[in-house]
Amino acid sequence: MYKLKLSKEEMKQYGYQVIDTIVEHFDTENYKKPVAMASRAEMDTLFNMEAPEQPTNYQEVLDFVTSKVLPNSNIVTHPKSYSFVPGPSNYVSVMADTLATGFNIFSGGWAASPAAAQLEIVTMNWLLKLFKFPTKKGGGIFTSGGSMANLTALVAARRQCCGDDFSNAIIYMSDQAHSSNVKAIRVLGFKKEQVRIIPTDIEFKMAINKLKNAIAKDRLEGFQPFCIIASAGTTNTGTVDPLNDIAKICREEKLWFHVDGAYGGAAILSKKGSQQLKGIEKADSLAIDPHKWLYQPYEMGCLLVRNHKWLSQTFTEKPEYLRDIEGNTSEINFYDHGIQLTRRFRALKFYMSMKTFGLNAFKKAITYNIDLAEKVEKKLRQSPKWEVISPATLAILNFRYNPIGKSFSEKELDTMNQEISKRVVASREALLVTTILQNQVVLRMCLINPRTTIKDVQETIKLCEDFASEIIDK
Ligand SMILES: *Cc1c(COP(=O)(O)O)cnc(C)c1O
Repeated sequence: MYKLKLSKEEMKQYGYQVIDTIVEHFDTENYKKPVAMASRAEMDTLFNMEAPEQPTNYQEVLDFVTSKVLPNSNIVTHPKSYSFVPGPSNYVSVMADTLATGFNIFSGGWAASPAAAQLEIVTMNWLLKLFKFPTKKGGGIFTSGGSMANLTALVAARRQCCGDDFSNAIIYMSDQAHSSNVKAIRVLGFKKEQVRIIPTDIEFKMAINKLKNAIAKDRLEGFQPFCIIASAGTTNTGTVDPLNDIAKICREEKLWFHVDGAYGGAAILSKKGSQQLKGIEKADSLAIDPHKWLYQPYEMGCLLVRNHKWLSQTFTEKPEYLRDIEGNTSEINFYDHGIQLTRRFRALKFYMSMKTFGLNAFKKAITYNIDLAEKVEKKLRQSPKWEVISPATLAILNFRYNPIGKSFSEKELDTMNQEISKRVVASREALLVTTILQNQVVLRMCLINPRTTIKDVQETIKLCEDFASEIIDK
C-alpha cells in the first residue's frame, strides 16, 4: 500500500465509475435542485474523523463521496443558478482537466513541458487577438482566477510605475469595483489611505468628473497617482466604466490602466458586448476569468498585458537550481510571468474546448446569454408586478417586486424582496439572491448559462410571484 497504487484493473473500474458519475450529473442536473443547505453541525456529523491510519476499501470511499460529499454543494452549472456569477462549465474542459491532472503536467517552465508552454502561448495569442491587444509584444498568463489575475496585474503595475518606493502611490477605482482589487491592494501592502474609491453615476459607471478631481487634488497634495482600475462589467450590474475616457486620462496623466474584466470581458465575443467594451483594447493590463463566462471549469483566470516584458521584469527570479533549464528567450517559462512556480496545465482545457466546439459556438452562446437577459427585462417591464432597477447589461439584470396600484413603502419593498429571495432559496428550486443598489434591496439575475431557457426564468419568476402573494396575504 505504501506505493499508493491500485492495480490496473482497479484503476479502470474506479475511473469508469468516476466518469459515469460525472456524465450522469451532466445528464440529470436540470432535474436536481441547485441549492444545497447544511449546517456546520450536520457537516461535522457526516465528515468529522481522525486521519485514518488504516486503509478503507476504495469502493467504499468513492461511494461515500458520491453520495455524501458531491450533493452537498450548490450546482453552479444548473440552469436556475442565477446568483453571484454562475460557472456553467463544459464537459470537454472537464475531461481536459482530468487529463492534465492524470499526467500531472508541470506547467511552470519550458524544459519540463514544451507543449504545455506552447499551448499557453497559443491560447494567450487567441485572447490577445480577441481583445485587440498587440499580439507580438503582448503577453499574459493563466491564473487560478480573476482575483489572482488582478493581483498579478497590480504587482506588475507597481513594479513598472513605482519601483521599490510606493509610499506615495495612489490607486483609483469606483465604488462598484470588485472586492478582489481591494484585497490585492492590501496584499501588496498599500495603506487604506492610498486608495481612492470614486463614486458612480446613476448608471453605476465611474464618475469621470470626480475621478479627474481626485487625481488633480492628489497631485496638489504631493501624492503620486499611479493606477486606475476600471471595471469592464461590474459584478453587481454588468456595467462597463467609460473605458475610452479613462484610457485618455491614463495617457494624459501617465497612469497605469488596469481593466478588471473578470466578469464581463468575455462579452467581447458578441456584437453587443464588443460595442459596450470599446476602449478595453487600450488597457495596459486586463483581467478576464475563463471560469466564468468562457465556460471553463474552476480554476481558470487570465491576465493579459500590452507588453510581456512587464511580467518577466516583475516576476523573474533565478535560483541556482533552475539555472540549467533556461531555454532561449522565445521559450517562455511561465513561472517568470507570474507568482506560481509549480502550476497546473490550465491552457489545455481552454485549448481543447475551443478546438472541439469552435470559437463560433462560444460567440453564439455569449450572444444568446445577452439576448436572454434582454428578453427577461422586457417581460418584467411588461408585468404589473415587477420593476426593473438596472436594465439587462452583459447578461445581468436587477429587479424587484413592486406591484402597481399598491403603495408599499421603500422599507416594505426591501423586506418583501428579501423575503421572496429567502423563500426561493429555501425551496431550493432556484439560486436567486439579492444585492443592494442605491439603497434598495433588489433581486439579481446573472444569465451566463447557455443552457438556461426563457422557460426556466419564467418558472422562477412565477415562483417569486407565488411567494410574494403569500407574503402579502399574511
Ligand atoms: C469574479 C470577479 C473577480 C474575482 O474572480 P475570482 O475568479 O472569483 O477570483 C474579480 N472581478 C470581477 C469583476 C469579478 O466578477
